[in-house]
Amino acid sequence: MIPSAMAATPDTPTPETAPTADTPHAAPGAPGHRVVVIGGGFGGLKVAKRLARRRDVEITLIDRANHHLFQPLLYQVSTGILSGGQIAPALRDIFVDHENVRVLLGEVTAIDLDAHTVAATAAHDITLHYDTLVVAAGSGDSYFGHDEWERDAPGMKSLDDAFRVRTRILSAFELAETSSDPADREAWLTFAIVGAGPTGVELAGQLAYLSRHTLAGHYRAIRSEDARIVLLDADSSVLPSFRERIRRKADAELRRVGIEIQLGTAATGIDAHGLDVRGPDGVKRIEARTVLWAAGVAASPLARMLAAASGSEVDRAGRLLSAPDLALPGHPEVFAIGDMVSLEGVPGVAQAALQEGHYVAKLISGRLDGKSPPAPFSYRDKGSLAVLGRSWAVADVRGLQLAGRVAWVIWAVVHIAFLVDWQKRFEIIRRWFWEFVTEGRQERVISVVSLLPEEAARAELETARARLAERDPGAGLAPER
Ligand SMILES: Cc1cc2nc3c(=O)[nH]c(=O)nc-3n(C[C@H](O)[C@H](O)[C@H](O)COP(=O)(O)OP(=O)(O)OC[C@H]3O[C@@H](n4cnc5c(N)ncnc54)[C@H](O)[C@@H]3O)c2cc1C
Repeated sequence: MIPSAMAATPDTPTPETAPTADTPHAAPGAPGHRVVVIGGGFGGLKVAKRLARRRDVEITLIDRANHHLFQPLLYQVSTGILSGGQIAPALRDIFVDHENVRVLLGEVTAIDLDAHTVAATAAHDITLHYDTLVVAAGSGDSYFGHDEWERDAPGMKSLDDAFRVRTRILSAFELAETSSDPADREAWLTFAIVGAGPTGVELAGQLAYLSRHTLAGHYRAIRSEDARIVLLDADSSVLPSFRERIRRKADAELRRVGIEIQLGTAATGIDAHGLDVRGPDGVKRIEARTVLWAAGVAASPLARMLAAASGSEVDRAGRLLSAPDLALPGHPEVFAIGDMVSLEGVPGVAQAALQEGHYVAKLISGRLDGKSPPAPFSYRDKGSLAVLGRSWAVADVRGLQLAGRVAWVIWAVVHIAFLVDWQKRFEIIRRWFWEFVTEGRQERVISVVSLLPEEAARAELETARARLAERDPGAGLAPER
């Protein structure tokens, strides 16, 4: 039942928003307060987990992927240390014991703030009705107006991206091995990473270890140890969001393991054979068959959609300029959290999304209980960490600035602690231990088929959707049992 405290708010179901056949939780006798959560990342998952404890709330968690992705370990998937499943528990597993939570696979394409509906599609079109909506759709890569670069310089935001990056890296060594042209071989053995923030340095560090240690001696025509790894950034230092001392130490460590750092250098063109850059020495060309993108972040397009619908604004990265209670102006029943919003002094990190998710869940819960609204959201900075190699990290935590093994131990403990369950924790520790002892990496599966460009897969998906719509035009979401 909807408590009376909520009855006079805009959350009240109108005839249009009342449960219908295609609405989850429409089962007779179970008209709980309907919360739709878009995105099962750090923010959305936090909201759903906290609200799931309430019996008077019916939650629909919709995500375009069927898993919660622990993005901070994504680079370990793309460099063969961990498998995808180890950092991506199925959302369905997480909520199996919560009958008031329904998990749906679908990509949200539209939100109607007046009708209180969300439109999504996987293969079938889905319409969801909400009393309260939480949008936590995260962010993607920004190519600074050059979206065409994505094809030749994949970013790293999703598991699909990580697999694509892993395929590019591993196949580069394979294709160098089979090439008889020295220039071609050199280009296959040149890896350029654009962006020297945490993702870029973590990728570069792992790539250095992979080529100098894990793959050493595995080829007959090439020496993987000779791989050239170029890390470039338009900024004047690596890890620009860290403090000066840490930045200097990180720079020295990256150079020590043989990474070529080019600062004050921006990519001006990227194609299948390499990239053009402009730096202190002017414009030059780097022949690199593998270019990886770790430079820019753009909020989910849903942020712009919400802004347009509510008369709000977005910042340069497309993030919704948020109110201190994270609700949408004029729509107290709609919240946006995490990477897709911009709040003064709040960085785009997992901690911020978690804290915002916690705040919003508490606020919604309080409203349902008829309590007065909490104080505005305030962010508690718990510090920053980044790993630069197998067991070397930097930590900037509560005034403490560390670089080296101790920082790596802190990094490892923190990351293990934030994983969703014990099974994943155990598996990951086991993998790290194995890698530490043997220098080996187990996730190195590729084939010639995996070299197919992503566009081919997307085109195939569109064709499949069109075929399905033709066959079954009235299909929608099945009602709950
Ligand atoms: C490679 C990498 C490394 C990182 N390392 C760190 C780190 O070490 N420490 C740290 O604090 N932060 C790190 N971050 C940042 C951190 O992961 C993000 O700040 C955090 O994930 C943001 O949480 P969120 O809930 O806003 O978005 P996300 O966790 O990205 O979740 C968004 C969810 O929404 C879903 N989604 C998106 N659009 C739609 C749609 N239209 N329909 C349905 N579902 C949709 C996505 O599938 C995803 O599950 C890293 C990020 C990356 C990419």
